[in-house]
This record gives sequence, C-alpha cells and structure tokens, in this order.
Amino acid sequence: MTSEHNPAVVESPPRRILLGPGPSMVHPRVYEAISRPLVGHLDPQFLELMTQMQQRLRDVFCTENQLTIAVSGTGSAGMEAAFVNLVEPGDEVLVCVNGVFGNRMSDIVGRIGGTLHRIDRPWGEVFDPQEVEEALDRSPEIRIVAIVHAETSTGACQPLVEIGRICRERDCLLVVDAVTSLAGIELRVDDWLIDVCYSATQKCLSCPPGLAPLTFGPRAVERLARRRTKVISWYLDLAMIQEYWTERQRTYHHTAPISMNYALHEALALVLEEGLKPRYERHRLHSRALIAGLEELGFEPAAQEGHRLPVLNAVWVPDGIDEAQVRRRLLDHYSIEIGGGLGELAGKVWRVGLMGESASRDNVHALLTSLGELLTSDSDAARATAALDAARAVYVS
Ligand SMILES: *Cc1c(COP(=O)(O)O)cnc(C)c1O
Repeated sequence: MTSEHNPAVVESPPRRILLGPGPSMVHPRVYEAISRPLVGHLDPQFLELMTQMQQRLRDVFCTENQLTIAVSGTGSAGMEAAFVNLVEPGDEVLVCVNGVFGNRMSDIVGRIGGTLHRIDRPWGEVFDPQEVEEALDRSPEIRIVAIVHAETSTGACQPLVEIGRICRERDCLLVVDAVTSLAGIELRVDDWLIDVCYSATQKCLSCPPGLAPLTFGPRAVERLARRRTKVISWYLDLAMIQEYWTERQRTYHHTAPISMNYALHEALALVLEEGLKPRYERHRLHSRALIAGLEELGFEPAAQEGHRLPVLNAVWVPDGIDEAQVRRRLLDHYSIEIGGGLGELAGKVWRVGLMGESASRDNVHALLTSLGELLTSDSDAARATAALDAARAVYVS
C-alpha cells in the first residue's frame, strides 16, 4: 500500500521531538486551546480574547505600541505585511543581508517597487552598526532600514541597540525580523527604538504555524497615514485590518483564524507565566549543554563567536558524515527532527533548534544519546559517553 492510500499516515502522525528550525513542540495546554468550540469572529467572547491577546503580545514584544496584532498567515505574512504597508514604489530601503531571510526581505521590497539598497555580510556573521551608518551616509535618501534579529539560516544573532539609535538620528524607520527571536532571546522593541517588528507562532512561541505577531510603533503608524498610494495587497492592508482589531470599531475585513488565535492566546500565557527573563535563561542553558555535547562528537559552532543564537544552534558537519542520511536515521529510528543547511550552507551545517517547549534537558539528552549511537562505533564509544558527560557538566555547574 502506498502512503497515499494508508489512512494511518495522516490520521496518526508520529510524536516527533522537534529540534529543527521550526515548528517547535507544542504544550498540551495549547493543543487543548486549539480544540475549543468555535465561535464567530465577531462574537463578544472572541473580541475579548483578541483584546487580551494584544496586551499579551505587547508584554512579550516589550512595547506599548497600540497597533500590535496577529496577522493571519505565517512569519512570511508578517514580513510581507511590514513591507507592503511601509514601502511605496520608489521609496528607498536599506536591507541588511547575511542569510536566507535578509534575501527574502530584499525580494519583497523589489516586488513592491521599492528602490533596494543592500549591504551584505558573509553568512554566519553579523553587521557592525558602523556599516549601517556608512550605508545611510552614502545614500541619505534611505528612509527604511530592515534587518533580521535571529538569522535562522545561519544561527547568528544581530545586536540591534546601536542600529536603533542610528536609524532614529537619521529619521529612518527600523524594521526588525524577530521571527526566531521573540520569546526565546531578549528583544525590547521600545527600548531598542524598533519601529516595526514581526514574528511567527511556530518558533519560540511554541504554537502551531499560522499567525504572525506584528507591532507598529507611532512613527510607522504616521507613515501609514501619509501614504500617497493604496497598499498593493488587499489582504494585508493594515489600515483595514486595524479597524477589526480596534475596540468599538470591529469592522469585518477577513475571517480571523479563530482556533489559531485560541492557541496563540494560550501560548502567550505560558510565556508570561514562565517570565521572559527565566525563559531566555532556559534557552541559554540548554544551548550551552547541547553545544558542549556536540563538540565532543566533533561538531563545531558555525556562527560568529560571541553572536551565536541559543535558540538555533548551527554547527559544521564534520567530514566523512553523510549528513542527510544521519538526519534521516534520526527521524526514522529516534523520531527526532533537526534541520539541514539552507542555501549556500546546504550539506555543510546542521541547524538544531531549541525553541520554546523544545528547549529542555530531556531533548538535549535524547539528541546527544541518539547521535552517540549513530555516529560512534564500539571502538570509540567513549566519545558518546563524553558527549553526555559534557552536557551533564553544564547542568550541574
Ligand atoms: C521562519 C522564518 C521566517 C519565515 O516564517 P514562515 O513562518 O516560514 O513564513 C522569516 N524570518 C525568519 C528569521 C525565520 O526564521
């Protein structure tokens, strides 16, 4: 029987340990929330949930921004919503590219008809604020700067504080992709002078994919009001979407994905109950243990030292390992998913996500144990033990 005709394949998916670049694992309370009875998208109960959720989103983004919502669609919808609303044909936009997602932002800016200025860094490295400053000095007509906080394709973490100040001084709007950073590493939208920030549900928020948290600060809202042309996307036009999210207006635009909103509302409660600081600390701890173990097995971190993401651990695959085959065995025999390389890093790195619910001692232990079994033979079984010992040493220190 082919899998196409085997109902078990779709009706009972396996319980994976999800340690890839997203989606991450989902808490039972979020599964419970998503299966709650449906109500209408204008039901007073649902409107109340939206209001609560907006406040939770503000708390997690560390912002007071009124326009803070969940866009229908995945992280890329959040990205597209940011650009279609801010950029009009001919507007000059600086995009900082050091991986797949900076490339995607450039692509979107070009499609809208924005004039693209782009600076590049080798994949795995981060930008020095001075490079942004110099690019803006070269082209003073640039009004929007876009950068990725956590580059999921390389595992690099971009420092943002200085860049926020530079943009503010030059009256540029700063757009930040926080798809992989939100609720996993520190991100302070207001303090860091970020004007627009978007994320996704299925990374460190540990929710199924389907919504894109998005926040627009006062300067970005002002830009919306001053547009000369209509937003080219009807579905993502924030001026209209906002009327649905604003209390006392609640004008129908498109049907909200009700069940996904239940799920995100609950996932945000879990984040806030844990507390942002303890949550960031938990991600750092498990990442340190994982890396200590992986190093014993011959995997070295791939991103620039001092700028490595705890939530997405990119490591070089040592010579002699058939990386695709080992990943397949991890999935088939141990039910563990990890990520391969994207773009120019395909076949060269592994990307091990420790996002949200996935960031646990059990999962670090399961991965190191499985890799020890897959990668060592009887003659060097001591390496497998050394990997577990190295991880344990991090936990007990
Ligand atoms: C995953 C990701 C996206 C795209 O999100 P989708 O949910 O896959 O649409 C954008 N930016 C970054 C940094 C990501 O990691």
